Parts: sequence; structure tokens; C-alpha cells
Amino acid sequence: MKVLWNEQIIDESKVKIDLEDRGYQFGDGIYEVIRIYDGCMYMEKEHLDRFWESAQKIRMTLPFTQVELSQRLHRLANEVGIENGRIYFQVTRGVAKPRLHDFPDSAVVQPVLLADIQPVSRPSVKQNLGIRAGFVEDRRWLHCDIKSISLLGNLLALDEAKQKGFEEAVLLREGFVTEASASNLWMVKDGILYTHPDGQLILPGITKMKIRELTKALGIEVKEVAFTKKELLAADECFKTSSVAEIVPIIEIDKQKIGDGMPGKVTKRILKAYIEAINLFVQA
Ligand code: PMP
Repeated sequence: MKVLWNEQIIDESKVKIDLEDRGYQFGDGIYEVIRIYDGCMYMEKEHLDRFWESAQKIRMTLPFTQVELSQRLHRLANEVGIENGRIYFQVTRGVAKPRLHDFPDSAVVQPVLLADIQPVSRPSVKQNLGIRAGFVEDRRWLHCDIKSISLLGNLLALDEAKQKGFEEAVLLREGFVTEASASNLWMVKDGILYTHPDGQLILPGITKMKIRELTKALGIEVKEVAFTKKELLAADECFKTSSVAEIVPIIEIDKQKIGDGMPGKVTKRILKAYIEAINLFVQA
């Protein structure tokens, strides 16, 4: 498969990752994942904006403009030709020798860009049936708003949930629900939609952004306030959102049913609107 490596599109077997790439040694880098529907990148501009925000938060100067990066990503997409999938791209702070914790001089060390495209199908089965999750303590750092390639905290949380037999982790920080291991988390109570406010404790999701827009049009009230584990267990519905998962109902947490233990009607309404928005986008 062809990948993008800095400015080149080459076969993945030709990519050389330097032993002293700071991404490899320190997880010193950022990434994005954009969904591709019918060959088009969904909410590309929003993902690129978030990428630039992440870069600024980690004090990294990107060696290309948004337009240049977009052109490179599109060049790769045309070359690979996958109609439905996702594009993953990351930038590490680059290759700096010797291995030192200090950030290298950005005038000397150039960030390293990599992007690849993989096919992904719509998660219709999970969307129809819902998934079962477990509560896990959110022990990640206080920069969860940065889309950092250092995902160990998220991986540990997911693994803890999986070890207990659940498919997903619902993260709890001091008793409050933050998000899921790789998605934002929502609950519905008495027709009102609740989710954690943006800030340092969660990733400001691009799908979350879309849902704000869709719920406004649907006349569904949204409150971005933190809620507790107890409040979530007493909710009528729960779902998670991400670019890849789109909207997936969570029907049970720690073996306790949420609502009647089936994907809820508000969730289904929002999912329907989400799919319609994708269809409008690909037709445009
Ligand atoms: N939170 C976390 C921790 C994530 O990894 C993701 C997926 N990137 C999200 C939320 C959802 O973000 P998005 O809707 O932009 O995919």
C-alpha cells in the first residue's frame, strides 16, 4: 500500500523510521483521523484546524501550510483510491540526536509527516445493536484536548474494560464521566442530551461538533455539563461518537442496562440525521 512520507508518496515498505525519531522514542507527536465517504474527506477543514491547534499546544511549528497538507493528503487519497475508509496522519517532532528530553531547535529539526489510508466500513451492526461498556478510572494526563500520539492512557483504559469482558471503557474522573477510550460520550435524560464540556479533560470531537449542529436543527436540547456515574446509570440512553464509529449506542455499563437496554429513540434520531448529513455531503 502507498503511504505519504513527508512530501513523497511511496510504498509503505520503503518508509524508514529513524531510531531517534522523537515520535518513536517519546510519543512526541500529534495525529488526526479523517473519515472518507465515497472518496471524499468528511469535515476535513475541522480536522485540519484541530491538528493545527494540537501542534500549537505542543509548541510544534508545522513545516507546511494547511493547503499544502490538504493537497498532499488528497494526492495520497487519489493514488490509493479507497472509496470508504479513513486517512490517518501524524507528525512527530522529528529526528534529534542524541536522545534528549529538551525540545530540539525547530530551525534545525524538521517534523516528520506520515499518512496512510485504510478501508473502513460503516459500523451498522454496532449501531443497530449497541455495545456493552464498563466504567474505568480516567488516569490519563490533563492534556486530553491534545490529539497526541501518546495514547497509552487510553489503551490501558480500553484494555482494562476488555479484560472485564466489555467492549468499551467509559472513563470516570473523580466520579464524573469524561469520555470513552477513543470517542466522546453522551447521555439522554428526559429528552435532554448531556455531554462533558470541552476543556483539558476530553478531546474536542469533530463528530461532537457535527452533533451540536444536527441537534440544533432537530430541536434537541444539549447541555455540555459533566455528569456522574450515578446519573449516567439512571439515564434513558447513552451513546458514543467518533469519526470512525460515528454514533454507537451503549446499551449496558458494568452489566447494568441503560434505559431499556436497547438503542434509544433520541440516539436513533440523531444517527439518522448524521447519516443523512453524510449522504448530502457525498452528493454535493
Ligand atoms: N475522544 C477521544 C479520546 C478520541 O480518541 C476520539 C477519536 N479521535 C474522540 C474523542 C472523538 O473525536 P472525533 O469525533 O474527532 O473523531
